Amino acid sequence: MSCNVNERTYIMVKADGVQRGLIGNIIGRFEKRGFKLIALKLVHATPAHIEKHYEVWSGTPFFPGLIKFMTSGPVVAMVWQGLGAVETGRAMLGETNPLASAPGTIRGDFALDIDRTICHGSDSVENAEKEIKLWFPEGVVQYDATFASWIFE
Ligand code: GDP
Repeated sequence: MSCNVNERTYIMVKADGVQRGLIGNIIGRFEKRGFKLIALKLVHATPAHIEKHYEVWSGTPFFPGLIKFMTSGPVVAMVWQGLGAVETGRAMLGETNPLASAPGTIRGDFALDIDRTICHGSDSVENAEKEIKLWFPEGVVQYDATFASWIFE
């Protein structure tokens, strides 16, 4: 686990999570865990933008369906910061296949189908930084979180 208290991860409530009214629940989980929200917006993304986000999957059989699904409605794009944000964010999501996701995780609580996985989370620090640039070219918000000393020594 990283020891960087400023580590950042890109978390996105997907189109299904927005339609199912899970935005607040997902934000609440990251807030309660102690992460700091440093960027947030509701976006109805273009196919080109989603294709860029998921470019590693270009050419797979599920890619066209993934693009169609992710552009069918808005998503909530966020950046969360804190100790081990990438690895812990992934743990909070569960597995790529919701059926393999433990109860208590976002996918383990709300999802069944690999095509409807509710929420995205960066899988490495490097990819997090790439995704943050793609979704927030305007940059993130700098501010002091007064709770920090109650979360980190
Ligand atoms: P994640 O980081 O756990 O969301 O998973 P990946 O980055 O591996 O894949 C991105 C998204 O593509 C997943 O959330 C799924 O919606 C979809 N996906 C990945 N692998 C598969 C697959 O084998 N079949 C299908 N149908 N969709 C997949």
